[in-house]
Amino acid sequence: MTTDAKFNDMKASDQRAADPAWQDDVRAGVRHVRDLAALPLSPAERSAAQEAAVNHKVRIPKPYLDLIDWNDPSDPIRAQVIPSPDELVEAEGELDDPIADHAYSPVPRLTHRHADRVLLFPTYQCAVYCRFCFRKESLTAIGRGYTREALEEAFAYIEVHPEIREVILTGGDPLSLPDKALGEIRARIEAIPHVRLLRIHTRVPVALPSRITAGLVGALDGRLMVTVVTHFNHPLEITDATEAACRRLRQAGYVLLNQSVLLKGVNDSVEVLEELCRELMYRLGVKPYYLHHGDLARGMAHRRTTIAEGQALVSALRARLSGICNPTFVIDLPEGGGKVPLGPSHIEGCDGETWRIRGQDGKARAYREVVRK
Ligand SMILES: *Cc1c(COP(=O)(O)O)cnc(C)c1O
Ligand code: SF4
Repeated sequence: MTTDAKFNDMKASDQRAADPAWQDDVRAGVRHVRDLAALPLSPAERSAAQEAAVNHKVRIPKPYLDLIDWNDPSDPIRAQVIPSPDELVEAEGELDDPIADHAYSPVPRLTHRHADRVLLFPTYQCAVYCRFCFRKESLTAIGRGYTREALEEAFAYIEVHPEIREVILTGGDPLSLPDKALGEIRARIEAIPHVRLLRIHTRVPVALPSRITAGLVGALDGRLMVTVVTHFNHPLEITDATEAACRRLRQAGYVLLNQSVLLKGVNDSVEVLEELCRELMYRLGVKPYYLHHGDLARGMAHRRTTIAEGQALVSALRARLSGICNPTFVIDLPEGGGKVPLGPSHIEGCDGETWRIRGQDGKARAYREVVRK
């Protein structure tokens, strides 16, 4: 049993009998920084782990841990979950709250920045803690799990804002919650008539695919259209187990999308991104939605790419992949500027009614607008 007092969501003792597989995967994984002692870390990783865990907890379910090739010091899975000494180096300009979740939070556990949709944070705990997380400051500072009471103010807010059509469960990882909690949240939201769609942002299908059970799908089943936005960053994360998890979600009728974060040393190559996006779409049936430029989370300068590097990668991707396999490359601007595409733009200029637009072959062409006056 974990001694991490703040951690309660994944104990889910009410489910142990019904779904032992994912509980075993949690128990056999890294549940606390001290469990790293049993792994073949480098001396530098070992010495940084304790301090890094103060800023952002360490947790790695067994299926994800098993993907690491320990003979490769720069293994892309290891880079995402094993604390690194580089995390302890803060660069000027990095932020606690890179995309201003807090400034746009009218009530606890809710962020409302775009009229028609809100972020709801049912828990500030996750099944896996990603070292690059842009919300790690909130996870550490708030850290709380789910209670019905904690969300009441947020639900009341949604009720009196009829412009809200989409509720996005994020966190924390909503799918780290027990089925019972998910069922309660879903029922409470669907009782608000103007809400049309329930969106779930989660790394569980990637890191703890055994958690995607029939019970979980049953808990989400109801009136609302459900969209699950997964978070795959590397083709090595696409396995028989993650495929089965996505198949179950697809068969439930959910729309599956993926967002990835561009991470130096993990997925900043055309070959890796190409395979990731293609296999997401063709093998998992998950449409690549966003590719995020790395947020200004503290201690992450070693994983960030430049915007120009990102643009060059997505230009090359665009040429190699079909439209449905291509994600939109975006930056989530500080101060709540929101997510905006980074291009690169194909428009080179405009002279009256004649535009100069660069084609997929790289050649600019004149395009004269023809509209009835
Ligand atoms: C990312 C985000 C959303 C969702 O944006 P989409 O472009 O619809 O995916 C909504 N609200 C906030 C505050 C966000 O950061
Ligand atoms: S699962 Fe999401 S919220 Fe949790 S640590 Fe990873 S990126 Fe952050």
